[in-house]
Amino acid sequence: MEHSLQVWRDTLEELGVLGLVREPAPAPKEAAPSHPSKGLPDGPPDPRPARRPPPGQAPGYAPPSDPVSCPTAGTVAAAASLPDLCQAIQGCLVCPLGQSRLKFVFGEGNPGARLMFVGEGPGRDEDLQGRPFVGKAGELLERMIGAIGLKREETYIANIVKCRPPDNRTPTPEEARACLGYLYRQIELISPAVIVTLGATPLRELVGVQEGITKVRGQWRRVRVGHREIPVMPTFHPAYVLRQYTQEVRRAVWEDLKAAKEWVEKAGANAPRKTED
Ligand code: URA
Repeated sequence: MEHSLQVWRDTLEELGVLGLVREPAPAPKEAAPSHPSKGLPDGPPDPRPARRPPPGQAPGYAPPSDPVSCPTAGTVAAAASLPDLCQAIQGCLVCPLGQSRLKFVFGEGNPGARLMFVGEGPGRDEDLQGRPFVGKAGELLERMIGAIGLKREETYIANIVKCRPPDNRTPTPEEARACLGYLYRQIELISPAVIVTLGATPLRELVGVQEGITKVRGQWRRVRVGHREIPVMPTFHPAYVLRQYTQEVRRAVWEDLKAAKEWVEKAGANAPRKTED
C-alpha cells in the first residue's frame, strides 16, 4: 500500500473511523443537517455587530492611546486584505494580553478557504512561533483535517484571541471582545462557506451560544458577519480530544468535520474560489 494511503488509513483507524476498512456506517446524527438550507435556527443566536466592541478594561490596565497600539474600528474595516489587516493590528495593546505575548498569532491558511477553524487562543508553542495550532493540539487538528480529505493549508485557522493568555487560561469575555472585531474582519475577508468552532470559547464568544459544548457539538448554528450569515459547526477542541481520547469523542469530531465538509461541497459548488493574496 502506498505510504500516504497507509498514513491516512492509520489515522482513520486511530480516530475510530473504520470506513475505509468496511466498518458499518455510524448512525446519522439527528441534529446535523446535511444541507445548508435545512436545519438552521430561524435567527442567529446572538448576532454581534461586525465591528470591534469597546476594548477590555482589566483592572490596573490602561491601554495606550496611540493608533498603532490600539487600531481603530475604522482602520480594521479599511484593511482590504489579510496581510493589510495583520499589519494594522499586530502591534495591538488594547487588552492586557498584548503586554505579555511573545508573538502575535494572527492566524494562517488559505485566504480563500471555504472551511475555517476558530479556536480559543494561542498556547505556549503558538506564542513562541506566532502561528496557530502548532503544538500537540495542532498536530491532532491536522490529522483530523486529513481524515476528511483536506490539507491544513487548504483551510484557514484562527483564534478568538490573538495573544496568549497567561498559563493558557481561558480568555476573559473582555479580552475576547477586545479581539473580536479583528476576527470579524478576518472572516469577512476570507468569507468561508463554513466555520468550525473548536471548543466552548469560540462558540460562546463568536456565536453567542452559552450551552455546553457536549450538548451543542454537531448541531448547526450560524453567525452573522457583515452581510453574510455563515453556518457554524461546533465541535470539541482538539486539546479536549487529547484528554478524552476515547473512540466516542474522536468519532464525534470526525462526524462533525465530515458534516462541515459536506456542507462546504454543497454550498460552495458554485462559489468562486479566491486565490492566494
Ligand atoms: N489552542 C487554541 O485554541 N488555539 C491555538 O492556536 C492552539 C491551541
